[in-house]
Amino acid sequence: MKEPSIKIKIRNDLREAMLKDLRRPHKFAAERIGFMLTTSKRFANGSYIVYATDYVPVDDSDYIRDKYVGASISSTAIRKAMQIVLDKNCGCFHVHLHDHKGKPSPSRTDLTGGVPQIIDSFLSVDDSQLHGMTILSADSIYVDIKGKEQKGFVKPKISSFVGYPMKFHFNESRKTKSSDIFKRQSFLGSESSFLFDNVKVGIIGFGGGGSHIGQQLAHIGIKNLTIFDDDKIEASNLNRLIGGWYSDIAKSTQKVKIAERLIKKILPKSKPNLVPEKWQNQPELLQQCDIIVGCVDSLIGRRELEAECRRHLIPYIDIGMDVHTIDGAPYMSGQVILSMPGMACFKCMNFLTEQNLAEEGKKYGDVGGLPQVVWPNGVLASSAVGILVDLITGWTKKQNRKVYLSYDGNIGIVEENARAEYSPACCEHYPLDQVGSVRFKKL
Ligand SMILES: [Zn+2]
Ligand SMILES: [Zn+2]
Repeated sequence: MKEPSIKIKIRNDLREAMLKDLRRPHKFAAERIGFMLTTSKRFANGSYIVYATDYVPVDDSDYIRDKYVGASISSTAIRKAMQIVLDKNCGCFHVHLHDHKGKPSPSRTDLTGGVPQIIDSFLSVDDSQLHGMTILSADSIYVDIKGKEQKGFVKPKISSFVGYPMKFHFNESRKTKSSDIFKRQSFLGSESSFLFDNVKVGIIGFGGGGSHIGQQLAHIGIKNLTIFDDDKIEASNLNRLIGGWYSDIAKSTQKVKIAERLIKKILPKSKPNLVPEKWQNQPELLQQCDIIVGCVDSLIGRRELEAECRRHLIPYIDIGMDVHTIDGAPYMSGQVILSMPGMACFKCMNFLTEQNLAEEGKKYGDVGGLPQVVWPNGVLASSAVGILVDLITGWTKKQNRKVYLSYDGNIGIVEENARAEYSPACCEHYPLDQVGSVRFKKL
């Protein structure tokens, strides 16, 4: 049987909490062990995503003296973990730390000691979930996974730490090929072209904003794009739809077809996944993206998209613009905001409030044709692409950056909005126990 394709995602705040716990000294054990709880989702195409949802340290009293291994835990510790699997209907991963930089590899005792039996006992409690073993290092990870359909361990195709910047650990070795096309962006790092080949980016809406995004991502070399738009081009779109042609108007060309034509001409090897529907009709295609750029019209649409992205541990970069009247004169404004799972959300940053959502709800239906033009979309999309490239490559070396950029279109300035700085460091609106598919507890 073919090995299933598995991705595992761990929110960075949870990873940091695990590192902190595993580094605590123990009275006599040389290292510590914990259990990472997970929930997994099987997709229609047979692939899986495993989401880390919690971590449970082994109690100090559950370690036993063992001169042959760094840490040995009692059967009580394992029974406690099995009980959690039973109660929570969750996956469970044995976790320990090799505290160095770079990819950790398992020692012989890691592979042949008690760990495989522990994982089998988790499977015997709940075989609807995937279980396994994880070794963390200071900045990387090793993962072995087992489900009821596998005899042995399977390695995830990608293990990712979800945070700013993202960290993608691929199982296969990295082929860094040099291409003249991309030699002027080599400062993005030696792994960047591999990452651009393999990271999946979703674009929600291929209109005035999304079309700029798609074009730029193709130039950068991002090959796996999933583009959602259920609309067709109309005459009133031509003032801003990048890649849209005058001749498309009479043909009512689908916007995703315009996207494909634009992207394939720049990057023939790309495989854009075209979804001529609302993302809500194809949620699994969205859930399998690693990063989402949302170019949606309404606040309610943003709230829905953010909730879905948070549930599936996907960073969501939002762009939007508006023209309204202040003192009788048009004022153009816009924003680029990053909703990073585990960090401040749109509500935390006061971008979405009960009040503005309710006001929009009242107006719903008579919003009509909002003013939209090409140049502010270009500014906002370029700023968003800059954030996206940093998320993937980490080239600026910024850590845990909160992003809320405001655009004043009347004077042409983008600056950091103070709401990002004053927002809470972590978000309470989207707790980790709500990650993954909606589950119904066994009664
Ligand atoms: Zn080890
Ligand atoms: Zn929040």
